Amino acid sequence: MTAGAAIPNFIGGRWLPSATDAALDVRDPASGELLGRAPLSLREDVDRAVAAATAAFPAWRATPAVERARVLFRLKALLERARDDLAKSLTREHGKVLPEARGEVQRGIENVEHACGIPSLMMGETLEDIARGIDCETIRQPLGVFAAITPYNFPVMIPLWFWPYAVATGNTVVLKPSEQDPLTHQRIVDLATEAGLPPGVLNVVHGSRDAVAAILEHPDIQGVSFVGSSQTARWVYAKAAESGKRVQALGGAKNHMIVLPDADLGTTAEAVVSSIYGSTGQRCLAGSIVVGVADAYRPIRDRVLERARALRLGHGLEAGVDMGPVISRAHRERVVSYIAEGAKDGATLTLDGRGATVDRYPEGHWIGPTVMEDVTPDMPAGREEIFGPVVGLARARSLEDALQLVHQNRYGNAVSLFTTSGRAAREFRYHAGISMIGINIGVVAPMAFFPFGGSRGSFYGDLKAQGRDAIEFFTDKRVVISRW
Ligand code: NAD
Repeated sequence: MTAGAAIPNFIGGRWLPSATDAALDVRDPASGELLGRAPLSLREDVDRAVAAATAAFPAWRATPAVERARVLFRLKALLERARDDLAKSLTREHGKVLPEARGEVQRGIENVEHACGIPSLMMGETLEDIARGIDCETIRQPLGVFAAITPYNFPVMIPLWFWPYAVATGNTVVLKPSEQDPLTHQRIVDLATEAGLPPGVLNVVHGSRDAVAAILEHPDIQGVSFVGSSQTARWVYAKAAESGKRVQALGGAKNHMIVLPDADLGTTAEAVVSSIYGSTGQRCLAGSIVVGVADAYRPIRDRVLERARALRLGHGLEAGVDMGPVISRAHRERVVSYIAEGAKDGATLTLDGRGATVDRYPEGHWIGPTVMEDVTPDMPAGREEIFGPVVGLARARSLEDALQLVHQNRYGNAVSLFTTSGRAAREFRYHAGISMIGINIGVVAPMAFFPFGGSRGSFYGDLKAQGRDAIEFFTDKRVVISRW
């Protein structure tokens, strides 16, 4: 594809233009270079993709699980070979620094790896003689066409939380990636074709609200996986459920990191700072509020400031750069307005990244590391997801007080405790009440064989992404009772 060209949809094994010319620019967020134009596909594009997925389902379902797994084994090998190119392409369209992009590609590959185990993962259970001469078994069967709607912040990994499991279990898929950075995943779709995925098993429709609404209303789609902001997640959950679909909708976050006075300060500061500023804060697992308990406040504050000041902003492909830009001008404005509002509400702006610039990249969406003190839960800056390189510092008298701050917040994605006390860690784990719990870990990212997802305002549904939940989500357990 030439730079700046219209990005095609992928339907029935072919790259096809969308039915509309309406499109959004995809640009390198550091340099402003135009990379492509993502079409705002229409209902008719979605209809074509669903028709292709529906047509491909019977033959794919009848393909033995071990053969479906072989396609994924080949895809894993191809992804590993392309790893570095994929990471560079990801940095260019998203902005994250190259080591982070490599990490994302690796996390994506691990999901393909996990899905390769499908012949074992998909097995059912049997019990002889549930009554005299009567046997019972469960078998897992695919359901048909699934859709995945994914966000901009992990455009390689998050689609791979879903479609490899969906196709491994014998379903077919329509993927609607983020319109902000859909290019690297296009290459992964090519690799899936090269690995032997038959036409129509995986389809891609680009776009935004119209395409999503068409997916949610489509009668031939059995289930929807969504990741994005909580407001949209909640709407997707309600809308998809209304038309009888299965749905898992992962939303936003406001993650707290609690530091006790007995924590190891050096390793804690390192973990906390990389959680806050990694990926320029554009992670659902990013630490957003650091709570210093009693005497821990001052030393952790000083260390965070010292390390934050040393972070170097720049183009993610250049060596020695710690932090890239945020995704877009509009997003930068949103982050900046949270900082301004926090200052107006009474927070102390100890480190202000709003004026950051980078030589040679005047078009970049730069925000430097920002630290706000005296942030309280009633301020939007202390309550809402900012999704940028901004941390709020808060104080608590005890672990119990700190957990109260956590529970006052409507989100429930991740929470971390830093301590050297096993007893405090156990108390914390028991009372945390949040889905992803870190003990001396700043980014609580479950690997592919564990479930990934939050609770409360961060998640709508019951079965999460990855792990065994993925197999449950993409199959129906059918029970057969027999007497001969
Ligand atoms: P977003 O909600 O703007 O977009 C997500 C997807 O929904 C995209 O494909 C987009 O095209 C579509 N979309 C956006 N607005 C829509 C609307 N009004 N109607 C229908 N569809 C719409 O999210 P984003 O900005 O791309 O991603 C960042 C968000 O995702 C953050 O809130 C982050 O916390 C969240 N996220 C959560 C997790 C998790 O595991 N919980 C992981 C990654 C990102």
